[in-house]
Amino acid sequence: MATTISTTVPGSGLQDVKELTRMERIGAHSHIRGLGLDDALEARTTSQGMVGQLQARKAAGVILEMIKEGKIAGRAILIAGAPGTGKTAIAMGMAQALGTDVPFTMLAASEIFSLEMSKTEALTQAFRKSIGVRIKEETELIEGEVVEIQVDRSATGAGAKTGKLTLKTTDMETIYDLGQKMIEALNKEKVTAGDVITIDKASGKITKLGRSFSRAKDYDAMGSDTRFVQCPEGELQKRKEMVHTVTLHEIDVINSRTQGFLALFSGDTGEIKTEVRDQINSKVAEWREEGKADIVPGVLFIDEVHMLDIECFSFLNRAMEDDMSPVVIMASNRGITKIRGTKYTSPHGLPIDLLDRLLIISTSPYTEKEIKQILSIRCEEEDVEMTEEAKDILTKIGIETSLRYSIHLITAASLVARKRKATEVDVEDIKRVYSLFLDEKRSVQYLKEYQQQFMF
Ligand code: ATP
Repeated sequence: MATTISTTVPGSGLQDVKELTRMERIGAHSHIRGLGLDDALEARTTSQGMVGQLQARKAAGVILEMIKEGKIAGRAILIAGAPGTGKTAIAMGMAQALGTDVPFTMLAASEIFSLEMSKTEALTQAFRKSIGVRIKEETELIEGEVVEIQVDRSATGAGAKTGKLTLKTTDMETIYDLGQKMIEALNKEKVTAGDVITIDKASGKITKLGRSFSRAKDYDAMGSDTRFVQCPEGELQKRKEMVHTVTLHEIDVINSRTQGFLALFSGDTGEIKTEVRDQINSKVAEWREEGKADIVPGVLFIDEVHMLDIECFSFLNRAMEDDMSPVVIMASNRGITKIRGTKYTSPHGLPIDLLDRLLIISTSPYTEKEIKQILSIRCEEEDVEMTEEAKDILTKIGIETSLRYSIHLITAASLVARKRKATEVDVEDIKRVYSLFLDEKRSVQYLKEYQQQFMF
């Protein structure tokens, strides 16, 4: 669960953004590297750090496709399930799979009430942190650079499918040649927008690598020539296009006279005036019309959404109507509960009109095997060697208490093992930390037994 509002817009060059990304790497979900789906969007049993929860991951994958195709504006998703069933993990997996260009903001609902600004201002900022503005600049090609060109198929009457090539050459003949080959491939439906392909320069043979952006990166690292990713319509351009993505919130802050650019570093941006936002909105609309910028609706993840109150919910309902709205993903581990700020109860503590517009993904409890697998992945992530017997005991503890508690014991047990100069965590280390640190059930038990001795 996040305790900070974090947003990741690589390429913006902002120090605070880098800082938060680094914190995430050593965090509770650092082992999650994607949703672990194959090309047909089926969930692999264990992949990219993800274990089990196949239905929910597949559903999240379908939603990702909708996000990438821009078909989901104004809608929201609720991930509902018991504590520790991977709701946040799935949201993190979605963020990873979206790629670096799409802003992803994470917010714990209770933060709204602790920030020194009004609830609606805090939500507005979270929304605008989740909307990217991709600003294009055009410059001349420089010899030997990696360039991107866009190919338009509309000339061939084949519709609006377009692609983008990343080439490690500035030789116009080669670029044009490869562009033509890609158009041919598109026409024959061998590839579709979003596929990652290689084109062999000599033979023109096309190999499909899948649809993942990270694989495109791998492939780039292999020094191949061509990468093809989804892109907006355009013509074959013999120009280099530089693209930066910043968020609307960053533009707001930079242009807010009272805050100024430095506020982005401290994160203390305070309230931003409506006039500033109106001006920014019309400027961005102008850029869009002139083809200088695109809007990249990102993802706003609101954890423990039942903590929001009725005013926040009506704000959300309204904000999601906007055509620039990011995709809102909420998570809740509550069943039927009170809607904060009212005397009514409802499923997940959400008003019925909001529930009505949600796509709901539910997570289910893990099997023993899945818990053991998740624990093994965490051991690897934390560089902890553990015997099979110790893993079995830890798995049992996970079933009896909670997955999160057993994950916490890994680090503690490895410290205890190190103290006795062992290289591997064994059963005795697990037993030791289990007796040192209480899980929730035992803590409640302890409180019941000794409550007379606590202060009132
Ligand atoms: P809560 O309702 O308490 O917020 P949650 O459903 O959001 O819980 P997570 O925080 O996602 O649960 O899961 C607890 C821990 O288990 C995290 O470290 C998470 O990364 C890990 N985890 C959960 N599900 C999976 C999974 N399917 N594969 C790998 N790791 C997982």
